[in-house]
Amino acid sequence: DRTDEPENVVLREVWRDVLRRDPHQAFFHADVRAMLRSIGPVLTEHPEYTDVVGRLCEPERIIAFRVPWTDDAGHVRVNRGFRVQFNSALGPYKGGLRFAPTVDLDVLKFLGFEQVFKNALTGQDIGGGKGGADVDPKTLSPAELMRFCQSFATELASHVGAAVDVPAGDMGVGSREVGWIYGQYQRLIGYHEPGAFTGKPAVLGGSALRPEATGYGTVYFTQRMLAEQSRDLDGARVIVSGSGNVALHAMDKVIASGGTVVGCSDSRGSVAEPDGVDVDLLREVKGQGGSVADYAGKRSNAQTSEGSAFTQECDVALPCATQNEIGPEVARALVGNGCWAVAEGANGPVTPEAREILREGGVAFGPGKAANAGGVGVSALEMQQAAGRERWSAEEVDERLATIMSEAYDRARDAAERYHGDPTDLENGANAAGFLRVAEAMTALGVV
Ligand code: GLU
Repeated sequence: DRTDEPENVVLREVWRDVLRRDPHQAFFHADVRAMLRSIGPVLTEHPEYTDVVGRLCEPERIIAFRVPWTDDAGHVRVNRGFRVQFNSALGPYKGGLRFAPTVDLDVLKFLGFEQVFKNALTGQDIGGGKGGADVDPKTLSPAELMRFCQSFATELASHVGAAVDVPAGDMGVGSREVGWIYGQYQRLIGYHEPGAFTGKPAVLGGSALRPEATGYGTVYFTQRMLAEQSRDLDGARVIVSGSGNVALHAMDKVIASGGTVVGCSDSRGSVAEPDGVDVDLLREVKGQGGSVADYAGKRSNAQTSEGSAFTQECDVALPCATQNEIGPEVARALVGNGCWAVAEGANGPVTPEAREILREGGVAFGPGKAANAGGVGVSALEMQQAAGRERWSAEEVDERLATIMSEAYDRARDAAERYHGDPTDLENGANAAGFLRVAEAMTALGVV
């Protein structure tokens, strides 16, 4: 689309190259375009960073591989696995592994690109990457899933390591799967290297609070956004979509902060419950393989629907499910209902068009690369614990997590004010602040 080209000549060339190289990667393109928009004003002040932009938009390395495995019926099945090693200027590639049918190179390049700037915003010394496979783990038995993880790890093993690339979990990959992948990795390399993976089970060196970190961090970030409006979560009505790891821990923290979770959802539907969702019951039902509708069936004042959870009234919306769950229509409902703030617990849940509607409607927006950085932030703490053969208490990790989120907020806010003239424009601010840190490192390294 020529009408949407960057004005800056160098950025325009970069943009054309990105489109020419991979013409069909819509997720990645939209993310690059947003980034180029955010950094325009940064380059005016820092022209010396102009020549890193082209390199920044091209992953350092992409690994794609066959994942063969045998199902319980004895049939040989094949999936495709990937690792996108996007940028290692600040440290080893760091980012999750996603197992979902929607995984392809476009989605992983988008997520990997996001990860680079997210990781920079945490202030930790980690580069960015992302990987995964196009498999639906929900359709596999535990035995099949373990064989799948082992086959996946067998290929991945030659490309990762504590000082090279440190994967963690993401959608469809929890601590159990990280444990299995790490188990196969350790067997192949023949020695212990707990720093090569994060999000491990606690017994294998997983950090205290790593499972909680993304959800808690999203709420800490939201609290800073609300404080900017002289508001807080105490008494606030909050809708949290998704019912995985991120969502359930975000709900716990909302309630601990005095808020009420008035709506929730999973991939099958949503629930409105103005008196407040019983998170322990929801966790129990989901843990047994039930749906949010099954949960609602056990509650007297819960209404189920097949639509979005975000169309009922709320003060704060925390999309914690997956990409593109809030489009223009839902964004208009949030504006119409007087919502104060939206913070992304998931990666890319609010579409670019919906973000524009929220902005025009005066709803504060916390972009995922800042708001959900707590997960990877605590992953970096897990790497430190592995390197020092230490284990930190939950209190110590929580304190560091709160600091990481607060500093990520400050970086995004300050860059928003400085380069975009509006301290509440956290999206442009997060992009600009993340870019600055990566660009400085890339420049210091020379053309490599
Ligand atoms: N998958 C998480 C994310 O999207 C965490 C990655 C990590 O801990 O390395 O940021």
